[in-house]
Amino acid sequence: MQNKIAPIDASPHVIIVGGGFGGTHAAHALRHAPVRVTVIDRTNHSVFHPLLYQVATAALSCDEMAAPIRGLLRRQPNAEVIMAEVTGVDVERRVVRIGARELAYDYLILATGSAYTYFGHDEWARYAPNLKTISDARRIRSKIIQAFEQAEQETDPERIRALLTFVLVGGGPTGVEMAGALAELTRCAIAPEYRHIDTRTARIMLFEADARLLRAFPERLARKAQAELERKGVEVYTGAAVSDVDATGVTVAGRHIPSANVIWTAGVAATPLGAQLGAPTDRLGRVKVQPDLSIPGHPEVFVVGDLMVLEQDGQPFSPGLAPVAIQQGAYAGRRIARQVTGQPDRGSFTYRNKGNLATVGRAFAIADLGWIRFSGLLAWLLWGGVHLVYLTNLRGARGWCATPRRRHAAIPYATAAGTYGRRSCHRRQRGRIWSAYHVIER
Ligand SMILES: Cc1cc2nc3c(=O)[nH]c(=O)nc-3n(C[C@H](O)[C@H](O)[C@H](O)COP(=O)(O)OP(=O)(O)OC[C@H]3O[C@@H](n4cnc5c(N)ncnc54)[C@H](O)[C@@H]3O)c2cc1C
Repeated sequence: MQNKIAPIDASPHVIIVGGGFGGTHAAHALRHAPVRVTVIDRTNHSVFHPLLYQVATAALSCDEMAAPIRGLLRRQPNAEVIMAEVTGVDVERRVVRIGARELAYDYLILATGSAYTYFGHDEWARYAPNLKTISDARRIRSKIIQAFEQAEQETDPERIRALLTFVLVGGGPTGVEMAGALAELTRCAIAPEYRHIDTRTARIMLFEADARLLRAFPERLARKAQAELERKGVEVYTGAAVSDVDATGVTVAGRHIPSANVIWTAGVAATPLGAQLGAPTDRLGRVKVQPDLSIPGHPEVFVVGDLMVLEQDGQPFSPGLAPVAIQQGAYAGRRIARQVTGQPDRGSFTYRNKGNLATVGRAFAIADLGWIRFSGLLAWLLWGGVHLVYLTNLRGARGWCATPRRRHAAIPYATAAGTYGRRSCHRRQRGRIWSAYHVIER
């Protein structure tokens, strides 16, 4: 049996706020360091965002996409977890606040990530939910399924049209991936299950204010992704800013589009805690960090992941990608470990870009690995392999090792259901995709 080591109060206390990609990797990097680590997160779990859209489109279950933070750190005796919302940080007194309670730190790693922004129209959030948390994904999934159920019983053709019109606002990776998944859901997976509506006639509209989709990818790959979306029946509108969202639909370029299903996949900004550090921030509220990810005047305070912006070659660097948060979290953790053990400094943070991937439904993805760029089935297989590795790790961290055989068997099942089908309308998959996860909560 593993010994539980009581915290040694004299050892430096590292507080990590945020148990997402950055926070958990920072904690892990401190596993052998003579420090006490406290990870504070407002939820008890770490979310695997890249496949969240598959939960929202009923391809994967919520349980596949999250791991308890305690489970991730269960083999790390120097780490503890507190589920609470951090409400304030005082860098002069070196404390974080959880309501009226204060916790003192010697080192602080802030990794609270980003949040969606509605460009000053917070009232739109009521009608256009966004996709960030497990609850968001569940809410969107319910909304989508309710729309089909209502349409099945509706007699007014205009109302049916609105119920079967899906509007995605924002043509970044989430919007593109969601549009592809919705196209396959409506065209294939559920089409045989309804008697009074033809789900294949559903409109899926993707609006992007910019001149093109997928800004983070080279233009050639973005064009290929757009062509594939259009081939799957998605209507893509670029240079099309949504000017209003209400209960009846969206307005674009003065035209009102009735829709019961508007999903927000546009603009992100920093979470508010960064503003409390007293460090400079950019217009999105991201904390401007130094090359070692600390803030000016406070070498003991690090900001990692989506919450930071770093100047690299005179350009702001904050791509909002999981690998960046992972590498930065690990870097900050290792840096603290070296400082407390008196080891020499190993220099600034440098990002090792291993590539960028996005999928457009099944059997098509785009891959930008820097040295090579490609699209199609090969890119999709690569995308699948990468996500399979992450999902396997996530599942391994869950602590349901009591039934190891079941654990491993469940992975191919889940991935086959949602991610790795061979043909988009394969008969066996069709049953699996939809039937497994389309039960909705009231
Ligand atoms: C739908 C979606 C799809 C994505 N797809 C991809 C993709 O395909 N590839 C890719 O590389 N990246 C993708 N990303 C981006 C990637 O998820 C982020 O870059 C990454 O999660 C950033 O890690 P982080 O540690 O900074 O923040 P997060 O992983 O978001 O973690 C932040 C944590 O902080 C907690 N928190 C926030 N505020 C507080 C507070 N006040 N007190 C306590 N806890 C708090 C949150 O609960 C959360 O657990 C996607 C993001 C989304 C939303």
